[in-house]
Amino acid sequence: MKTTKYYIHASEVYTEKTILKGSYVLIENGKIADITQSPKQDIAIANLHGFNLLPGFLDLHIHGREGADIMDATPKAIETISTSLAKHGVVGFLATTVTSTWDNTLAAFENIGHSYLSQPSGAQVLGAYNEGLFFTEDHKGAHDEQYFLPLTKENIDAIITVSKGSLKVVALAPELPESDEIITYLANKNIIPMLGHTDANFEQTCNALHAGACGGVHVFNGMRGIHHRDPGCAGAVLLDRNAYVEVIADGVHLHPSILDLIYRLKGPKKMGLISDCIVAGGMKDGTYKLGMLEVKVTDGIARTATGSLAGSTLTLEKAVNNLISLTEIPTLEAVHMASLVPAEFLGVSDSLGSIDINKRACLTLVDNDFNVHATLIDGKLVYCKGDLAKHFYF
Ligand SMILES: [Zn+2]
Repeated sequence: MKTTKYYIHASEVYTEKTILKGSYVLIENGKIADITQSPKQDIAIANLHGFNLLPGFLDLHIHGREGADIMDATPKAIETISTSLAKHGVVGFLATTVTSTWDNTLAAFENIGHSYLSQPSGAQVLGAYNEGLFFTEDHKGAHDEQYFLPLTKENIDAIITVSKGSLKVVALAPELPESDEIITYLANKNIIPMLGHTDANFEQTCNALHAGACGGVHVFNGMRGIHHRDPGCAGAVLLDRNAYVEVIADGVHLHPSILDLIYRLKGPKKMGLISDCIVAGGMKDGTYKLGMLEVKVTDGIARTATGSLAGSTLTLEKAVNNLISLTEIPTLEAVHMASLVPAEFLGVSDSLGSIDINKRACLTLVDNDFNVHATLIDGKLVYCKGDLAKHFYF
């Protein structure tokens, strides 16, 4: 591809407002310059009739893929995860840590900071997500409690410093001492506090949301569920109209009817898909490490020795497909739950998350079953299946 100005023609284009049939999306200097039914004659066209053009997915909670783990703390691991994600339509992600030793944690954040500034060749590093250290034991999931640390400004500041401006989200258990103060501290620094791996009750969670927490980490998983005399953390984040919830739509972490329940309570704007994928994503079943713990993957489902679910091997293309096949959620809304909704949550929707004029041309091409065939970042192919690249030879 030599030209920096061309059209993509697809059977369906999932724009911010609607699904258009047979239109042309003009890419110019890496941005979306126009969406039209009548292309100008002298501009090259990548004719991808038979495929549908979607906004590239944003995976804001992912630990690893294809044998690489964010906790490896190496540029190579981030490159592997980045190129693997591009194969699944992801254009941006938050590199997510798990509980580990303090030294390993700081090394992982330092490495994410480097990648954030230099960027790998596939999906872009949109920042760092701290899912570790500041949790409690009851819903610890795959987090080893012997490495839990006090939730203090000193510990948070150390992470902020090494991650070189890349820290975007901090997950924490709001029943920890001083949590509301730390939540406000994070929010004032434009770092998103999220609530997870917690046994907080309804009232504690409501207080945390009031202090500035933005929502629930993989809702229902790793938190106190809904009881009719204590709606728990899950009840609080679902009922608070401003709270955002992360959803793992692999058909295992949440029953299909619970996906519908979440949708009815949160609507299309506060329900964001995540993969929570670990090192075993894209690999065979077997035994893997997640942070300090061993996890066993059977039929693609990862569990710790105690049987607790330990992340997933999910991709967002599959998660979108699951939402469409398992629930009543309209197709365009399901696609936006993996793109526009996380973009708004992260504060990057002015440039990412939907197909709209002046946004970055970060796009994915799928077939009618939502299998990804190509991914573009800033108008450039970063992944292409089979001989599809020939459509871009101009
Ligand atoms: Zn988790």
